[in-house]
Amino acid sequence: SQQIQFADDMQEFTKFPTKTGRRSLSRSISQSSTDSYSSAASYTDSSDDEVSPREKQQTNSKGSSNFCVKNIKQAEFGRREIEIAEQDMSALISLRKRAQGEKPLAGAKIVGCTHITAQTAVSGCLPGGPGEGHQLFHGGDTNSRGAPVLAGVAVFAWKGESEDDFWWCIDRCVNVDGWQANMILDDGGDLTHWVYKKYPSVFKKIRGIVEESVTGVHRLYQLSKAGKLCVPAMNVNDSVTKQKFDNLYCCRESILDGLKRTTDVMFGGKQVVVCGYGEVGKGCCAALKALGAIVYVTEIDPICALQACMDGFRVVKLSEVIRQVDVVITCTGNKNVVTREHLDRMKNSCIVCNMGHSNTEIDVTSLRMPELTWERVRSQVDHVIWPDGKRVVLLAEGRLLNLSCSTVPTFVLSITATTQALALIELYNAPEGRYKQDVYLLPKKMDEYVASLHLPSFDAHLTELTDDQAKYLGLNKNGPFKPNYY
Ligand code: NAD
Repeated sequence: SQQIQFADDMQEFTKFPTKTGRRSLSRSISQSSTDSYSSAASYTDSSDDEVSPREKQQTNSKGSSNFCVKNIKQAEFGRREIEIAEQDMSALISLRKRAQGEKPLAGAKIVGCTHITAQTAVSGCLPGGPGEGHQLFHGGDTNSRGAPVLAGVAVFAWKGESEDDFWWCIDRCVNVDGWQANMILDDGGDLTHWVYKKYPSVFKKIRGIVEESVTGVHRLYQLSKAGKLCVPAMNVNDSVTKQKFDNLYCCRESILDGLKRTTDVMFGGKQVVVCGYGEVGKGCCAALKALGAIVYVTEIDPICALQACMDGFRVVKLSEVIRQVDVVITCTGNKNVVTREHLDRMKNSCIVCNMGHSNTEIDVTSLRMPELTWERVRSQVDHVIWPDGKRVVLLAEGRLLNLSCSTVPTFVLSITATTQALALIELYNAPEGRYKQDVYLLPKKMDEYVASLHLPSFDAHLTELTDDQAKYLGLNKNGPFKPNYY
């Protein structure tokens, strides 16, 4: 069986050129943690009560009170949800088994900020990783059932926390008497930002940051460019296993789910415009086309525009089709892609939603004007009504549709979590000097390892290179098989 591999070749660690410069960060800080998402997004806790978790005295079955969640009594339900999640996270479980012997994260003290769900609970229980130390996690938009039972992990998170709660939870994770983190696992950059702002001395002990989201990675590149990044950081967001699965395959499934759950729309024959033909846009277009929708694409980049043409989509300007389309979907990572002018010109009952950047793509602020009436027709569904009676159906108030209205397949989360775990292992174990104070992509060999761990779920059988073939291609028989830029 394969060992948990560590890259041994410095060529692997070429820096990733920043591609995030065009993205806007003009949102409030805490929203960035919705860049990636939880699979329990639609979960609601029936035991909600009025008392803030911050005011409650709670103790878990081990007698610890070092956590803050909505209701510790839900722990048994959480345990069951974790068991269900484990069934589709076999790669992570097999990594856990392998790590049991090697204990690659022994001694690691990880402070993390991510969505707390049954799935992240599974990843939190890596031996010698979160779960066997005093790791602390915080997550926004959280499934509080799963949270309390993270074995040995102190969790400060609950669904429906306010902005103030959000920062309070992060502070409780960082500012702990007698405990100091030596690794950061972040998703959106909020935790890293907080440590920089409030506790910069913590970085003296930090061996590295693992960052999951576009926004967080963008912030890290900015810090690096300004010469302010004082530890190595791993950009998990741009690793191929994350990009393809989170962005392409996941959105290909969740776009339809999110639209169906909220609107019951029939896709056959509907005219849909998808803004942006990157990974997310490609996934959305493929799914909509398969169900018989007529799909238009808008793009700024000629390469992606040409790809859309090759895939059989009409590339148009939004203004050319805005009067006729039934659905508008944004996937650009940009801001103000759908403006008030577009919204004014849409036809009655046009559905508008966002699958891209957290809440910037549709100019929702321009809809909060006295001349327009808002009617909440369902959870996450608003009718915005013009004076002449025209209605536009706005989903999730312009936030991510699948985060707010659908779920993310556990299998996809397994891939992301496995990639994160390997990034932590790599940074934690890297010999002095391998990583400098900069942002790095996960070595390709590890991407390949993440993928290989998931193949048994499909009973997929890899072909092995013969010695002769390996020589002919100039490859090591065990990989990496692709260059780092793949
Ligand atoms: P990408 O960079 O591959 O694609 C974005 C595309 O949008 C690019 O091709 C770009 O040229 C195009 N674009 C930019 N501005 C545009 C404009 N004004 N009009 C038309 N096209 C424009 O990125 P991606 O991987 O597809 O991700 C896109 C966004 O989706 C990011 O913000 C990412 O964080 C987010 N995302 C969402 C989910 C989800 O589950 N909803 C999952 C992963 C990523």
